[in-house]
Amino acid sequence: MAFIVTGACVDCVYTSCVDVCPVEAFHEAPDRLLINPDTCIDCDACVPECPVEAIYPEDNVPDDQQEWIDLNKDAENHPTLAASKDPLKGPKCGNPNAA
Ligand code: SF4
Ligand code: SF4
Repeated sequence: MAFIVTGACVDCVYTSCVDVCPVEAFHEAPDRLLINPDTCIDCDACVPECPVEAIYPEDNVPDDQQEWIDLNKDAENHPTLAASKDPLKGPKCGNPNAA
């Protein structure tokens, strides 16, 4: 299992999740962060840090966000983000169904 970033992250990318991750599992795509399922150790530390509640354990991803289980598998194609930075807060931030 792994933890999954879902649609609420898109265009928000607050990055507050990153600082608590002990294994640098977060990768930065242009408009979202993704969790590398091969790196994540299921520690649960990132979930309470996300201001838009975008992160779920894989077995508890909401029905309308299931596609994000596969989308997070793309994480390794993007660079690791090791520390938080200024949020993106683009126009789609706040629409949890953005993809
Ligand atoms: S804290 Fe939430 S919104 Fe911010 S980058 Fe992490 S998953 Fe995305
Ligand atoms: S559950 Fe733990 S290891 Fe996995 S991404 Fe979140 S903070 Fe990192």
